[in-house]
Amino acid sequence: MKICKKCVQPDTRPGIFFNQDGICGACIWENTKKNIDWDLREKELKKISEWAQKSTERFEVAAWLSFCKLVLHPFAVCIAVFYIFKVELYPATVMIAAASLPVAGNIFMVAQHYNVAPKRASAAIFLSTVLSIFTVSFTVAWVSNIN
Ligand SMILES: [Zn+2]
Repeated sequence: MKICKKCVQPDTRPGIFFNQDGICGACIWENTKKNIDWDLREKELKKISEWAQKSTERFEVAAWLSFCKLVLHPFAVCIAVFYIFKVELYPATVMIAAASLPVAGNIFMVAQHYNVAPKRASAAIFLSTVLSIFTVSFTVAWVSNIN
């Protein structure tokens, strides 16, 4: 039976290997760790963390703007046409369905209202366009049921 010259780990352990000096993989790695620049690694980790926080924040802003455009806007129009202006059913339906469309200009206006940078507004326009596949279908189906 072969054993590691440093830590006496035997070769009966699954997956173990030894270098030409009879040192096991775990001991080689233990030695390698001493030569790692941990300060540099910490800087790299902080960079990654900052990047992740920024993209999370960007996603939250985009999600909120998309929600405003795709859900709050048609809902507000719905209240306005039915309860405030008492619009007839057919034009009301058209107005609600139109309000549920992901119009980039409207998203941009909402973004401006919340002082969101133009770059983030583009993310919101993209996200809301993707989500509108579901929300527009839902709104049209729901409005058709009222009719
Ligand atoms: Zn060892």
